[in-house]
Amino acid sequence: MTDRYVYDLSEGSAEMKPLLGGKGAGVAEMKRLGVPVPDGFTVTTEACVDTMTRKGEWPEDLESQVWDGLKRLEERTGRVLGDDKKPLLVSVRSGAVISMPGMMDTILNLGISDDTVEAIAKEAGNERFAWDCYRRFIQMYGEVVEGIDAHIYEDALTALKEKKGVESDTDLSADDLKGLVDTFKKLSNEQLGGNWTTDPREQLMRAVDAVFRSWLNPRAFVYRKANKIPDDLGTAVNVMQMVFGNRGDTSATGVCFTRNPATGEKELYGEFLVNAQGEDVVAGIRTPRSLAEMEEVLPEAYHDLIDTMKKMESHYRDMQDMEFTVENGKLYLLQTRNGKRTAAAALKVARDLVDEGVITKEEALMRIEPAQLDQLLHEAIDPDHSEQPVAEGLPASPGAAVGEAVFDADVAAERGAKGEKVVLIRFETTPDDIHGVIVSQGVLTAHGGMTSHAAVVARGMGKPCVAGARGIKIDAKAATLTIGDTVIHEGDMITLDGSTGEVFASGLKLIPPQINADFQEVLSWADEIRRLGVEANADNATDAAKARELGAEGIGLCRTEHMFFGADRLPAMHEMITADTPEERQAAVDKILPMQQDDFEGIFTAMKGLPVTVRLLDPPLHEFLPNLVEQSLKVQKMENQGADAGELDKERRLLAQVKKLHEQNPMLGTRGCRLGMLYPEIPDMQARAIIRAVLSVLKKEGETVQIHIMIPLVFTPIELETHRRIVQQAIDEEFESAGTKVDVKIGTMIELPRAALVADKIAEVADFFSFGTNDLTQTTLGISRDDAENGFLTEYLRTKVLKDNPFASIDQEGVGQLVAGAVEKGRKTNPELSVGVCGEHGGDPDSIHFFNKTGLDYVSCSPFRVPIARFAAAQAVI
Ligand code: ADP
Ligand code: MG
Ligand code: MG
Repeated sequence: MTDRYVYDLSEGSAEMKPLLGGKGAGVAEMKRLGVPVPDGFTVTTEACVDTMTRKGEWPEDLESQVWDGLKRLEERTGRVLGDDKKPLLVSVRSGAVISMPGMMDTILNLGISDDTVEAIAKEAGNERFAWDCYRRFIQMYGEVVEGIDAHIYEDALTALKEKKGVESDTDLSADDLKGLVDTFKKLSNEQLGGNWTTDPREQLMRAVDAVFRSWLNPRAFVYRKANKIPDDLGTAVNVMQMVFGNRGDTSATGVCFTRNPATGEKELYGEFLVNAQGEDVVAGIRTPRSLAEMEEVLPEAYHDLIDTMKKMESHYRDMQDMEFTVENGKLYLLQTRNGKRTAAAALKVARDLVDEGVITKEEALMRIEPAQLDQLLHEAIDPDHSEQPVAEGLPASPGAAVGEAVFDADVAAERGAKGEKVVLIRFETTPDDIHGVIVSQGVLTAHGGMTSHAAVVARGMGKPCVAGARGIKIDAKAATLTIGDTVIHEGDMITLDGSTGEVFASGLKLIPPQINADFQEVLSWADEIRRLGVEANADNATDAAKARELGAEGIGLCRTEHMFFGADRLPAMHEMITADTPEERQAAVDKILPMQQDDFEGIFTAMKGLPVTVRLLDPPLHEFLPNLVEQSLKVQKMENQGADAGELDKERRLLAQVKKLHEQNPMLGTRGCRLGMLYPEIPDMQARAIIRAVLSVLKKEGETVQIHIMIPLVFTPIELETHRRIVQQAIDEEFESAGTKVDVKIGTMIELPRAALVADKIAEVADFFSFGTNDLTQTTLGISRDDAENGFLTEYLRTKVLKDNPFASIDQEGVGQLVAGAVEKGRKTNPELSVGVCGEHGGDPDSIHFFNKTGLDYVSCSPFRVPIARFAAAQAVI
């Protein structure tokens, strides 16, 4: 049995999306519902995949199946490809399963040739129209299929316009265009060394093949990588009869959304152009008109379009993004899909659709990309400034961007990758710029509308974008942007406001984002549904307050290292480390205690009523000590200068300690609880500072926190037992002298493979576990997380030795197994054990799914990830 590679339009439906791609399935579904669409057929994604596996060679049956599909289309339409009386013209459109806007190339007007052009002119009663289609076809086909440089054609067109003294393409006459076709053909043939194809049937085959190949475009890889789309899905190819928006003043083409994709508002949203063909709107070659104006120009088609929009939205129960063409007053739909939208719009649409009774809360939650919510957590321009905008464009993607002006996508990519803040400025963006867009703070274009490539891509990525800024002059070669008298050079600061379209010729101050009522409402649904608790990692009162504001139900990780490193504290640490007697050591540590207590009080006040997990000191010992070389030099210098004997002795003792404690591999050295095992004064002091702060907040505020004390980097129960003893004794003494007590839980981090493996034994002496998945990943994979991304890890990700960065998304197969095993073991010996996670992974949606499945009680992440974690935790249950 041979595979079926070709389906007629009437055979498809929305459900067949994996096979027919989004576009093919969408058009088929419209046909099924009686919406007018041009006839056609679809070559399946499987055909593309099979061709890729055969290194570009078509599977045996494919060609004959395409011919059969074409034949059936010819019969249905009563037209024949390449026929000189009733010629069929088609478009060849790529159609991936997951929409990749602008990534794959479409060829329009295929079938036009020297043999057919006259018939087309005659049928349309419009000579100019036919030659216009012809020259467009040669250019598109030449570029997309034969890889001819676009400049070859554009230069010829510009030269012709100059010669004729006209501004716009539409001012060229039929004869002009006829001459242009000749020029284009000659140029194309030259470029291909005489191998230019003129036979439409051969062109069709080559076009189908070009669509297959376009799946392997470098820019398609970049887009897929950025959007986590698998590389092995392949694209379908749609061959559809052409309808013509460029047949004159009663023809048009456009795009529309059933709701505003920037705000979510239920209002008319779209753009159209009279007497134009598809790509003209998206490419931003002419600036389109707003859809509302279509009612006057083409009333009948307009009303049909509005009806169809309503129909499709209620059918898909979601906001639709549609393409249409009007040919001689008659409306055709060419595409519909769930519209990409900003996070703000996603929330508004979700909330409205629930209010309208169209979808359930659960469905609404599933439609929101947790990662997309990042957008709302984006900064805006601080309104408190007196700067005047130097230009204004379309507010194409919200949020504010500040950075240095860059005029080339490669330069942006290079500098952005180094962590520099750049704003990409282009006349218009093309899919080839995508690698630059990804790392830019925002994008500014001089050309194109709300649906231009730059706008669509930026919205999808949550990048601020100002599109079509009028009156700005971009000279990419000289790397300058000129607006009136203002000239911005590469490297100059610039600020964009993607929410208003304003451009400022300086770096303005940004303010943190605000979370609106839609956000709050939808988050409250997430809270009703999720099972996992969501806490935050916060080390100071400001972060703690922010976390609480964003809905954190506690602090899952409060690190205490900074409480030792302050200029006022480090000398005391040196004293402690170099002390000869326990008394000396205690005296040194006692100096730090009140400062720590103060730090804790701030945090506890912000979090009163909620649980706070404080981790005792964790960093490697050497971080408290001066550098070996520097300290040697210092001592040498003091010796040479004959310094004070007492001072010199102090520095010498410090040097001796530095030498003694020097470690080749400090991350696997004296850190975490190992420090406390050597210097029990530290956990003792920290426990006292914590308890004093807890009690002081209780006294001042009438309420305090539920305190959890967490011991890091344990691998044997003995370490935890030892710490428990030290900490418990300090706690008891503090309670006794205060005459009050509160409940205190003592637990540990599980961040070493051995700890996970003996979790049952550790759980016997722990009230809780918190998985420190950063260290657990580092130690399980044996990859230093501080170095990995500079080196082989990047290469591993590129070559897919690893699918995801294990520090960003938990390695479920390996590290995940340790987590799951430890949860099970721990709960066996201690059914009361509470279990959470506090690594970077606590804010990663995929990891959150895993933690939910594994039965953890809560995740803890950075304050700004909290809303995202709340969403993801709800989605994990649905
Ligand atoms: P993309 O994925 O880049 O949007 P499309 O295949 O949707 O590519 O097509 C590009 C443009 O050409 C769109 O504006 C579309 O509406 C138009 N188009 C595609 N097929 C036809 C057709 N058969 N008749 C008229 N216009 C078409
Ligand atoms: Mg399209
Ligand atoms: Mg750790």
